Amino acid sequence: MPELPEVETVRRGLSPHLDGNRIQKIEIRRPDLRFPFPEDLSKKLTGEVIRNVGRRGKYLLFRMENGSTLLNSLGMSGRWTLTGGEISFTPGTFAHGAAIGTGDGPHDHLVIDFQDGLRATYTDARRFGYIHLVESGVSEAEDRFLSVLGPEPLEPNFNADILAKNLSKTSSPIKNALLNQSIVVGLGNIYVNEVLNRSGVSPLRISSSLVKKNGKPTKGLELVTNQIRAVLLEAIDAGGSTLQDFRGVSGDDDLGWFPVNFRVYGREGEKCLKSGCSGIVKRIVQSNRSTFFCAQCQR
Ligand SMILES: [Zn+2]
Repeated sequence: MPELPEVETVRRGLSPHLDGNRIQKIEIRRPDLRFPFPEDLSKKLTGEVIRNVGRRGKYLLFRMENGSTLLNSLGMSGRWTLTGGEISFTPGTFAHGAAIGTGDGPHDHLVIDFQDGLRATYTDARRFGYIHLVESGVSEAEDRFLSVLGPEPLEPNFNADILAKNLSKTSSPIKNALLNQSIVVGLGNIYVNEVLNRSGVSPLRISSSLVKKNGKPTKGLELVTNQIRAVLLEAIDAGGSTLQDFRGVSGDDDLGWFPVNFRVYGREGEKCLKSGCSGIVKRIVQSNRSTFFCAQCQR
């Protein structure tokens, strides 16, 4: 499943081609994906100009000049392909096997043609993704999908104090809390495992125990905050560096993550990589998700 770094890589791939581009035609090939397509979507956006392609958590946001925003969740297998002229391009390495979307495939559900001849095709074989329209005049803070989201970890104002505030009354284990999008957005299971290992914090720690009585973050929570940023930026860098290779080529990596060097994820029974630690990586299950950690250096 695409996580924040993958979605950010898709955004970076689309933005230079779509920002400022005028929509000439929108074709919707079926009534729904995970949810029905917004009513009159095609009518509402035909002729509109995309001001910019943004992102909030794992959502792509196509912000229009008229103040409305087309929101897209990629779900499990959603991807965008740009074709037209010299361009044939599927940004993101998580794309699942099949040929790139040209607007003619059985899973090409939404096709947007632009004034300059570019075509953006949304392909989603499993249809867990969805499209939603934040109407003009409705702020993102009022929108039902966006209003529930916690802070954006890559924004400059994100810090350990904000995280401490959101965790101070949380009695669930820190592993589960960091997966909760209302506490902090964009962290999937794999990345949370890595963040906690690198921070030396046990996934079993009760969240509020990482906050001092005066509401300030503990040292451990400061490490977690720094590692959230570091792991996400590393993953985005890894995606960015492979982006060129995927120009016009379908991704064959269906693992759903970028090649960050994972220290714990998928390494059950192997030696912990922290220098000086002789622990062995364990796997447990928390809220039906695999947790990998080293009980010796993660406290
Ligand atoms: Zn260890």
